[in-house]
Amino acid sequence: MEQRRPWSRPGEYAYGIALFTAALIAVALSFPGSSLDAGDWPVVLFFLGFGLFTIAIGYEHSAFGYVSFDRVAQVSSLLVLGPVDAAWINGLASLIYPWHRLGKGQPLRAVLFASLTNSGLMALMVLAAGHLYLAAGGAVPLDGLGLASFGAVLLTLLAMQLINEAGMMGLYFLRGQSPRQAFSLFDTTMELAAGLVAIVVAITWTRMETGVLVLLLAVLAAGMLALKRFAEMRMRLERLVADRTAALQEKTRQLERLAAQDTLTGLYNRRHADDHLRGELDRALRDGVAFSVALADIDHFKQINDRHSHGVGDRVLERVARVFESRIGSAGMVARYGGEEFLFCFPGLDEDAARIVCEELRLAVASEDWSTLSPGLGVTMSVGVAARRREVQVPALIERADTCLYLAKRSGRNRVIADSHDGMEAGTPQEAEAP
Ligand code: GH3
Ligand code: MG
Ligand code: MG
Repeated sequence: MEQRRPWSRPGEYAYGIALFTAALIAVALSFPGSSLDAGDWPVVLFFLGFGLFTIAIGYEHSAFGYVSFDRVAQVSSLLVLGPVDAAWINGLASLIYPWHRLGKGQPLRAVLFASLTNSGLMALMVLAAGHLYLAAGGAVPLDGLGLASFGAVLLTLLAMQLINEAGMMGLYFLRGQSPRQAFSLFDTTMELAAGLVAIVVAITWTRMETGVLVLLLAVLAAGMLALKRFAEMRMRLERLVADRTAALQEKTRQLERLAAQDTLTGLYNRRHADDHLRGELDRALRDGVAFSVALADIDHFKQINDRHSHGVGDRVLERVARVFESRIGSAGMVARYGGEEFLFCFPGLDEDAARIVCEELRLAVASEDWSTLSPGLGVTMSVGVAARRREVQVPALIERADTCLYLAKRSGRNRVIADSHDGMEAGTPQEAEAP
């Protein structure tokens, strides 16, 4: 997105007004050089219409912004009418053109600013480059292509390009963008090519070859239209590709999420847990910090299924998962590791700290009001905790946690046993209630 400094808007307006005022004064001062009189209104109308047409036939380009063919009208009118008339007629076309954007919902200030800036810059450009053309010995009207006049036209085209780029650079500077963005080789090549086309238009006009002129204009219009269609097609295609790519990326993200998720509880699944654990263990080893894992298994879950139904068993798994999630938060990771078995990963926690967290989780599960799921239902779990020692492999660490879990089951269930503690020290040494 475009970055704007707070003062850039007023700066841009002032720039537009300054350009337009300068163009007004310059055209007024040079006006005695006008070759038109009242009877020439059809000529004025033609070049004004031609100017508007060449701007309107332009198209949005993803990299270069609005690309138009106004240089054809500017240069051909310059070669036919001379600098002063070409300047005010094309300036007027640029002044008129942006106003249709009001109908498209653009704000008045933006339209006014575009109108003044374009008009001022174009009129000044045509006037200055036109005077250079005359000074270089260029003929007005141009009726043939001698070496001298061709050289003068080329010089004029280059000067126009320079003035245009300088004007745009000023604008980019005011917007706080890099002035280098104003320059593009594609743009410059297009403008120079448009200038060459303008020579043919001017010569055909001057030689009064009306039929050829009409034909030439028709061919030109067809060519510009084809280019516009082609460019618009390309834009649509680019947008379509961008949309599809975004949709595909979103789908991939969804699939990745699904692939990492357990469908019943919404917790991470075993595959994700293994990957995650490997990464976290590597990190802990690299940073030299503590790292613990824990395995929790619901006690007598088979009996829960048998006595209260498989459906209640599923609700128990879901609710246990919510209890874990709400208590662990971002301090660790919990995954459904098997049927009624859950794996925890606690980066940064040593065995004691992890055991305390697991003890809280055990108590939370045991003190839930399970009778709301099914009358007489009680749920407890046993937990085994192991902290990393010299292990660099996840399976060895999990195996130690699993051994502790087995110990917890053997010594009465509903308790937490950590690797460095014996079964009677850790957890609550009481028998698990029958569910
Ligand atoms: P222990 O205290 O020794 O862990 O006994 P237990 O009954 O919990 O252990 P056991 O391994 O004998 O039984 C686990 C049961 O969990 C068996 C299986 O049918 C059930 N189970 C596994 N996955 C699901 C599930 O997704 N939903 C339900 N409702 N039950 C499941
Ligand atoms: Mg069990
Ligand atoms: Mg089990």
